[in-house]
Amino acid sequence: MKCSRDGYFTHGKLNRYGNIELSPSAGVLNYGQGLFEGLKAYRRAKGAGFLLFRPEENAKRMQVGAERMCMPAPSVDQFTHAVEQTVLANKRWVPPSGKGSLYIRPLLIGSGAILGLAPAPEYTFLVYAAPVGTYFKEGMAPINLLIERETHRATPGGTGGVKTIANYAPVLQAQMRAKSKGFSDVLYLDSVNKRYLEEASSCNLFIVKGGVISTPYTNGTILPGITRKSIIELARNNGYQVSERLVSIDDLREADEVFCTGTAVVVSPVSSITYQGHRYRYRTGEETVSKKLYEALTSIQMGLVEDKLGWIVNIN
Ligand code: PMP
Repeated sequence: MKCSRDGYFTHGKLNRYGNIELSPSAGVLNYGQGLFEGLKAYRRAKGAGFLLFRPEENAKRMQVGAERMCMPAPSVDQFTHAVEQTVLANKRWVPPSGKGSLYIRPLLIGSGAILGLAPAPEYTFLVYAAPVGTYFKEGMAPINLLIERETHRATPGGTGGVKTIANYAPVLQAQMRAKSKGFSDVLYLDSVNKRYLEEASSCNLFIVKGGVISTPYTNGTILPGITRKSIIELARNNGYQVSERLVSIDDLREADEVFCTGTAVVVSPVSSITYQGHRYRYRTGEETVSKKLYEALTSIQMGLVEDKLGWIVNIN
C-alpha cells in the first residue's frame, strides 16, 4: 500500500508524514494495546470537496474498543476533526470520483513505556491516509471464500467485537494459505461449535434465501461493521426482510446468494464458498440483491443521490 506523504494528524495537530518514535517498551509493541479504524473519503462527483461516510460511527466504535483495551478515546468531535484535517492535508491524493477513494486509518495505541503487564501510562491517537482502489484483486467481481476449521479469529470473552490490532494477527497465516490456493479470503467459524459462520478476515457476511436476507448477529466475536449496519438499514428501507441470527454451515447449502460488506470491500458478491472439499455456488450478476444494495450504498457514499439518511459529512 502506498501511503500518502503529505500529512498525518496526531497530538492535536498535523505533521508531515514520516516515521514515529516509540519506546521499545511501549504497550502497543509488547502487549498489543492498540485499536484502529478504517473509513473512506470520496471526491465529490460534481463540484469541489470530499465526502465522508458516517465517521461518527467509527468514532463511537473506537470509544467502545478503547474501554475494552483500557485506553481513553477521542470524542466524536475530536475524531471527526482529525479525520477531516487528514483528508484536507492529503487532498491531492484523493482519486477522481468513480476511480477509488482515500482510505483513512485512525489509530489509538498505548504508546507509553510499560514493562510489567498493565495498560500503558500514555496513549497516542493518530490518523493517516492512503489512496486505494478495490480491495480484492477481483475488483468488484465475485469472490471465492474458503471456510477455515483450524483457525479462529475470535473466541467468546476475547476481543473479536472490537477493532483491536491483535484480532488481525491470528488471521494472517490462514489468509495467506487460502490465497495461495486461489481463494480471495477466509470465512471463519465460531470457535465453540465450529458450525456457525462469523465473518471473513475484514468483512461481514450476508446470505440471501428466497428474498430474505440473513446475517450473523454480533455477539462479541464478530466486528459490528458500519457497512453491515448501513446495509441492514438500506435493505429494510427497500422492502427486504432482514434477520440477524445464527447462520450455520447448513444455511450455505440452501442460500441463493452470498455477499460480504465492509469499508474496504464495500458490497462484494461471493460466487462460491468451499467447505471440506465441497464447493457451494451462488448467484451473482446484475439481477441480485447484492447488486441492488451495492448501488444503493455507493450512490450515497459518492454523493450521486440525495443523502436522505444524514450519513454524509461534507469536507470542503
Ligand atoms: N469485520 C472485520 C474483521 C473487519 O476488519 C471489518 C473492517 N473494518 C469489517 C468486518 C467491516 O466493518 P466496516 O463495515 O465498519 O468496515
